Amino acid sequence: MMGGHHAASGAAAWVAIATTGPYALGWYPLDATGVLIGAMTTAGTALVCDWDHRSSTIAHALPPLSNAIAVGIEKVSGGHRQGTHSLLGASVFVVLAAFCSQFQVDSPWGRLSVGAGLLCMFMINIAAKALKLFPNSGWIANWVFALLMAGLVTWFAPHQWSWLPLSMLAGVMVHIVGDLVTTGGVPLLWPVVIKPPKLLRKVPVLNDVWKANGALSIPLLGKAGSRREWLVLIPVSGYAMVGMCTAAWSAAQTHAPEAALLVQSLIPALR
Ligand SMILES: [Zn+2]
Repeated sequence: MMGGHHAASGAAAWVAIATTGPYALGWYPLDATGVLIGAMTTAGTALVCDWDHRSSTIAHALPPLSNAIAVGIEKVSGGHRQGTHSLLGASVFVVLAAFCSQFQVDSPWGRLSVGAGLLCMFMINIAAKALKLFPNSGWIANWVFALLMAGLVTWFAPHQWSWLPLSMLAGVMVHIVGDLVTTGGVPLLWPVVIKPPKLLRKVPVLNDVWKANGALSIPLLGKAGSRREWLVLIPVSGYAMVGMCTAAWSAAQTHAPEAALLVQSLIPALR
C-alpha cells in the first residue's frame, strides 16, 4: 500500500476507535482533542513499519538521524517488508512508544510529558508529509504544524498522553493489514518464515496466499498503488476527514474560552 494510503487508514482507524456514536466502534472513547490529535498521530504511526526502507517518508523525516535509523532497522529486521511487518515488529514499536511516554520532566509549568510530546510531533510531521498537507511549502510547514498539534495537547490536555501506545498499536496493525491485502503480503510470524513446499507453489490461488518467500497475502486490492486501492481509500479517507472535522469543531468550541484567556494573559507579557 502507498504511504499516503497507510496514513489515511491510520487516521480512519483512530476515528473509529476513539469516537463514540453510531458510525464508530468507540473502544477507547476520548474527548475531541484526543480524537483530533490522536488521528493525526495515528496517521504517522501507520507509517513506522516502512522505516525498514531507506527511501520511505519516515527515513527522510529528520536527516541524518532518521536515515541512519532506517539503515539500522533494515539490517536488524532482514530488509523491507520483513521484521517490521510482523506481530513481533508491531510489539516492539508499541513497547518503544510506551517507553517514550514514560519520559517526563518537572518544570515551572508542572510536569511535562517530553517523550510523548516529541514522539507525537515526529509522527504528525511524517503524517503531514505523507498526506501532502502542505504540498507547496518546504519541510518547515510540516514541522510547525506538528509542533502546534503536539503543543495543543500539552496545553489543553496534558493528562491525555496515555493513548500514545494505543495509537502506535492501531497504526502498525493498520499498516500490516494494509500490506497484507496487497499482492506482496507480509511475513506475519517473522522471524519464523515457513516457505511452501515446491509442489504447493504451483497450486493456483494458494500460491497467491502463501507466497514462495513465505509471506502471507490476501490480495483483495491487487498490487500496491492499484486502482482498487485508490477506490477503497476514497471512503476511508472521507470517514477520517468527517471524524476529524467534527472533532476539530467540537474542540474549538470547548476550548475557545481557555484560548481567549491564554491570549489575554500573553498580551501584557508581549508589551
Ligand atoms: Zn509496508
